[in-house]
Amino acid sequence: MSRFNRIFFSHKCSECKQAVTFNVQFRYGELDDHSYTLGDRIKWGTNNKGDARHSHVIVDGMGFCPKCRGTAGFIVKIHNNLIADVSFSIPDSDDFEESGYTILESFI
Ligand SMILES: [Zn+2]
Repeated sequence: MSRFNRIFFSHKCSECKQAVTFNVQFRYGELDDHSYTLGDRIKWGTNNKGDARHSHVIVDGMGFCPKCRGTAGFIVKIHNNLIADVSFSIPDSDDFEESGYTILESFI
């Protein structure tokens, strides 16, 4: 079973129009059910996805509305290992690679 991390992101739900906190799941850093909020530093350990030397990465995320259970796609932006931004992704966006993340800048 694959593990993931999550980030809590407060925003109005596009389905039910209520202000909610999305539980956004993504797979980057140490995959060990870590919970993050905006501005947190990505943790690295034994079960890693990605590399800490990537300085600028966008990661594919999926979130659930706690009120209506509607799903939404998200983009998690990681800059120098800090969670810099979370936003809704555009459906059918071709920004994402199959790995689940895209490297924009790297020291490797
Ligand atoms: Zn909703």
